[in-house]
Amino acid sequence: MRPTGKLHLGNYVGALQSWVKLQHSHDCFFFVADWHALTTDYDDTSRLADNSLEVVLDFLAAGLDPEKCAIFVQSHVREHAELHLLFSMITPLGWLERVPSYKEQQQQMSNKDLHMYGFLGYPLLQAADILIYRPDFVPVGEDQSAHIELTREVARRFNQFYQLKGKPVFPEPQILLTPSPKLLGTDKRKMSKSYDNSILLSDEAEVVGQKIKNSVTDRPKLADRGSPDRCPVGNLHQIFSDRDRLAHITEGCTQASITCVECKALAVESVNAHLAPIRERRRALAQNSGKLRQTIQHGAQKATAAAEGTMTAVRDAIGLLRLGAVAGLAAKEESTAALRVPESVANAKNDDERWELRTAVWLEKVGKMYPLRKDSRRVFITRKGRKVGLYAEPEKNGNWTFEPKDQSLNVLVLLAEDQEGVLHDYVLPPKVLQDCWKKFEREHNAGHTTLVINVQKTADGPRLIVPNGENIEVQKYEGDYSALQ
Ligand code: SF4
Repeated sequence: MRPTGKLHLGNYVGALQSWVKLQHSHDCFFFVADWHALTTDYDDTSRLADNSLEVVLDFLAAGLDPEKCAIFVQSHVREHAELHLLFSMITPLGWLERVPSYKEQQQQMSNKDLHMYGFLGYPLLQAADILIYRPDFVPVGEDQSAHIELTREVARRFNQFYQLKGKPVFPEPQILLTPSPKLLGTDKRKMSKSYDNSILLSDEAEVVGQKIKNSVTDRPKLADRGSPDRCPVGNLHQIFSDRDRLAHITEGCTQASITCVECKALAVESVNAHLAPIRERRRALAQNSGKLRQTIQHGAQKATAAAEGTMTAVRDAIGLLRLGAVAGLAAKEESTAALRVPESVANAKNDDERWELRTAVWLEKVGKMYPLRKDSRRVFITRKGRKVGLYAEPEKNGNWTFEPKDQSLNVLVLLAEDQEGVLHDYVLPPKVLQDCWKKFEREHNAGHTTLVINVQKTADGPRLIVPNGENIEVQKYEGDYSALQ
């Protein structure tokens, strides 16, 4: 509920009374929508904090129990704003412009400039308010069905874009229609604070009496017959009087056998009898600011715990960086970090020792992921039995020359050490290697047992030069270990 001031009987019978019942059968979240109040009343916030507190008091006085449900103030649970922001990235503008209340309210409140981003987006904030608790139901009246439909559409769209391990993050909540008996304001129009025709939940007994006595009725003249359905006082009886009293005034009204004055006195009695315990609870709570503060804080904590659970799923589904994942990412980074040849390679005695030094770092890194069994000189066997030739060469004028000798190799790994001592590892899969041999044999007489392969630096990146002059881009094979399985 928006904190526009103390709640009136229309709010009570239209929603709050049902909520009090629902808290016993469902896990419920009820909040004071203070950010929503800003979407229209952004220019005067002088009463915002006080009004928020009044609404919490009304919630509690009416019978919402902080032990049974979560009662909180929207701005105390910042996750609502975060989810709204993320939803705003995927919600087409047309969806918001189509919401009926957007145009209606702009017309109704023509004295106010509502061409604001926040006002257009308030149904989306409402979608976030709802979906952040991933609910099965939303207890609202028919008039809210367009908003709930938008909420369902947003949930669907989010789930289409992002999933968590293939599963949708959000449910598509259903409307839980709550009984909302008709209650006219004292002037026979809809009960509303702006019409000054409402009876407040917190009104003192005398004030209630005064308002009912001054109420417009359905019988302008004593002799007129009326209908409690069309009369604000009759409505009050229908809600707050017992069956006998309701039958009595219904007959008296429709037959003109009682006066409106009598009828009103009975209504005052019924309404005050119902409101007395509410008033009493409110008074006690208002005097215990410590308890009130604790209740609001406790509600925010309860709501935050649930909202945070959703936001973790949302952030993960979208793929935002989690702090906890930094260690994992750093490890990944390390695994793709440049491989460096030890400086001792310069003092190596012979080719074999240089090969040992150059390949040791590579074997250590790759061997962890893809176990390689040593077969013969410079040849390894993968887990699946593939024969891998491992060759390492230093750079000579932007060029590396490799001379593998074994035609039965399936995979060729070329370790190209650049001038900074960094190793680039190009893993040529069977198909590429076979092509190299074929081209080589076309160029040379069959029967050659040594293949000559060059890797050359070019402006477009390194190229693999096969002997007949053709060359292929080799960058894509760098660090690609899929052939080593
Ligand atoms: S008798 Fe009661 S219900 Fe009928 S018009 Fe008068 S006040 Fe209203």
